[in-house]
Amino acid sequence: MFKKKSALFCILIALCVAVAGCVQQIQTKTPDTDGSSKASTDKFQVDKNIFAGTMVEMSWEDVQKEAQSGAIVLFPISVVEEHGPHMDLSPDIYLAYESCILIKNSLEEKGVHAVIAPPDYWGINVSTGAFPGSFTLKPDTFKAVLRDSTECLKKWGFTKIFYVSMHGDPIHRNLVTTSAKENTEALGIDVVDVDTIHLPIQNRPTFPTARDGKFSPERHAGADETSLIFAMFPDKVDVAYAKKLKPQSGFSPLGYMGDPANFDLEDGTTVMKAITETYALEIEAYLKKP
Ligand SMILES: [Zn+2]
Repeated sequence: MFKKKSALFCILIALCVAVAGCVQQIQTKTPDTDGSSKASTDKFQVDKNIFAGTMVEMSWEDVQKEAQSGAIVLFPISVVEEHGPHMDLSPDIYLAYESCILIKNSLEEKGVHAVIAPPDYWGINVSTGAFPGSFTLKPDTFKAVLRDSTECLKKWGFTKIFYVSMHGDPIHRNLVTTSAKENTEALGIDVVDVDTIHLPIQNRPTFPTARDGKFSPERHAGADETSLIFAMFPDKVDVAYAKKLKPQSGFSPLGYMGDPANFDLEDGTTVMKAITETYALEIEAYLKKP
């Protein structure tokens, strides 16, 4: 499900890249109108293993060293959720994971070292909760998961934790923001929802201009989100099925809100890069503020 990045018209979600040693370069493909695909010049480095490059692949000694070195933590928080009949249940967790990989890479270029927490994919799905495959937690359970996992990070010595959630369900979103504030107070460390930083940044990335005639609303598994997933994992989009889908302004009956058939008219590559670079710049600004 999409969420909007304030001040930018664009949808929030993101992206791709890979991890040293587990890198797989692919060519993104642009579907022709008949549903076939052709290669484009855009390339992403992607990895379908959401543990690649995260703390899960470190030894305890490595985790200890990272905490002692002052590394910040990027915490991917998402859900397993239905995404229409043309995609599987995975988009939001891959988007959160890949966003953290891209943010981490950008921060490294800015002299900020980050580690990525194990991706959490147990969240809240109310909007799409009626569809098979949309797992959901009770709010108290979700908050407890965030509290306990964040408290572990604190226990090991990490003091700056950034929640990166790529899921737009309003209740889920609010709980991420609330949990960041509550965990900051309860644990005595900085816990930040990256969507709430809102600090001035220089060289703010630009997003593609909305195309004329674009269907609205575009909220979930429509043209925007489908284009992002296709840019990362072309085989995760059933292109022939997507091309048959009519625009839908509510989640029912088919589990999307938007216009998935026109996903190839959107520039998912640019959007993904702009979103994650914006986050990286905002995190850098947060770390530099007095
Ligand atoms: Zn989604």
